[in-house]
Parts: sequence; C-alpha cells; structure tokens
Amino acid sequence: MLDRRRFLGLSSLGLGSFSFSGFRSAPDIRKPIVISTWNEGIHANKAAWNVLGKGGRALDAVEQGVMVTEASQNCCVGLGANPDRDGYVTLDACIMDEYANCGSVAFLERIKHPISVARRVMEKTPHVMLVGSGAQQFAVEEGFPLEPGKLSDDAERSYRNWLKKSEYKPVVNIENGQKQTAYAPAKLENGNWNHDTIGMVAMDAAGNLSGSCTTSGMGFKMRGRLGDSPIIGAGLFVDNEIGAATATGQGEDVIRICGSHLVVELMRQGLNPEQACKKAVERIIKVKGIAKSKEIQVGFIAINKQGEYGGYCIQKGFNFAVCYADDQNFMVDGKYILS
Ligand code: ASP
Repeated sequence: MLDRRRFLGLSSLGLGSFSFSGFRSAPDIRKPIVISTWNEGIHANKAAWNVLGKGGRALDAVEQGVMVTEASQNCCVGLGANPDRDGYVTLDACIMDEYANCGSVAFLERIKHPISVARRVMEKTPHVMLVGSGAQQFAVEEGFPLEPGKLSDDAERSYRNWLKKSEYKPVVNIENGQKQTAYAPAKLENGNWNHDTIGMVAMDAAGNLSGSCTTSGMGFKMRGRLGDSPIIGAGLFVDNEIGAATATGQGEDVIRICGSHLVVELMRQGLNPEQACKKAVERIIKVKGIAKSKEIQVGFIAINKQGEYGGYCIQKGFNFAVCYADDQNFMVDGKYILS
C-alpha cells in the first residue's frame, strides 16, 4: 500500500484535492467487464460484450471491440482518419493478453484492421513489434487486403483545410470547450475530429485480463511520428495478477512516464484504478509543469483484478465507456485535475 504521508505530500503540490474516501474500494465490482476510451467506446464495448457475455476470452473481446471503431468512418481511428502532414493515413495498434504476450504494429498503411495484424504479430512471430512497410508486408502475407489508400471524405476535407496554413501544431484531444453529445465524438471548430484513439481493457468470466489500443495518431503529424498507442507499457499494459490500463491523448507525454505500465504498478501498490490513473496524470503534470500541461490532454483508464474500474485525465472533456451487462453500457466522465 502506498505510504500515506507520501501520498498526501503529492496532493499538497496543488495538483488537485484528495478525499480520504478515495482509499476505500469503489463499490462497482464486476466480472466480466470491458471499458474503453471516448464516446466511440460505446459501440466498441457492445462488440466486446458479445464475446464476454457468452463466456468468451478477453483477448477476443478487446480485438473485436476495437475493430468496430477501426471500421467506422465516423472517427479518427482506422483508415477513415486524418492523414499525416504528407497526406497519408498511418496507423498504430497493440494488443496484450493474460500471459503477457503482446503484439504491435506501427506506421502501417492501407490495412483496415491494424489491431488484428498486431494480434498476428503476437501469435505468429517471435517478435513484439513490426513497423512500416515490413508490417504491411506481413499483413498482406497473412491475407489482409491492401486497401486503396484513399482518404475518407471527412479526412480529405480536414486535410485540405489544414493545408491552407500547413501549421505544424500537433495537439490532440483537447475538447476546445465543445460539448460532446452522447455517442458522437466531439469535433474541433475547424471540423476535425479530435479523438484519434480507442484503448480498451477487459476482464472475462474466467477472470483473465487483456487490452487493445488502436489509433491513427495525431492528425497532420510528421511522417513517421509514433505516439504511445502502439508501445506496450505506454499506450497499453496488462498484468493478469493486478490489472490493465490504457491511455489516450498526447502520446509523447504518456511515453515519457511509461503511462499504462505506471498505472498498473500503482494498482500493484494498492491503489484502486481511479486512484492509480489520477496518480499517473499527476506524474505527467509534475514532469511537464502546470502551464504546459494545460495545453494538452491525457486520459488513462484502468480495471483491476477485482473488476473495479476508473479513469482520470488532465483536463475536462475526456470520457470513457463502461460495460458489464447486456443493459449496462454507459459513459463516464473522466475526473480531471486542472481546470
Ligand atoms: N495517443 C495518441 C497518439 O499520441 C493520440 C490519441 O490518443 O488521440 O498518437
């Protein structure tokens, strides 16, 4: 258990208030359970629940769940997403199971389901990560069709808008004061979708944990830029003895603190998922400073072995979807530290 004085010391840094009730276990203890980032998570959870509700394996649930988002043209995950600044959509994804097996692809082009390619890397190669043309070659060898590589209408429009100024200001996931409507991702004022990622973690009826994370990364990023999402330990981490966590937001800042691994290790020390996510967000703010942290968003979500769930973010606007029954699939607003 985390030393209480140290914990109080951190909260006295002015990084948010802490209530003693936070030490108590949250009442929501469920199994099976699946949670995922942002509004699109509702649809992804539904697909994951189709697996979990029938006694299926968490690994299958987290793959099939995020495939829904990858296939959707309505958000910034998958081939419908915003391109990099050279006009190409490049995708990153990773997956991890209850045995600490993991697979990842990054800088992958023209493949509809990077998460499934990541799973093949995990299951069919001795490696964890394949990138770029090598990842694409492997996908094609595995029978994944090579898609045309044409931008979606939304992405084409956003890219043309962006090209007018071609300003290199990659910022992700700040809600820009816009209210999200249920089941629809928020758009920035310029019309761009601002969520580029879905992260999902699940526990199945057998009590086993798995997770997945898939993204197009930041819109209009430098060609070749990778964020946290395909990096095991940063965008996703699963430890079947303890819990699972995933991240969304400014990937560079998640990588800097090995974010998802940190959340799981904090749970190992006795924090519940929400407390662990909060502490990881505090770490980012500590490293980056309050002023610079106000310019970015990062959100973590996590579940533990007891089926408790939680999430936390830097600033208002992040939410996640929680599902633990046929009729229980709902959005939760992430608590935040800076306002
Ligand atoms: N974490 C992703 C990245 O940095 C972006 C996102 O979550 O929207 O690539």
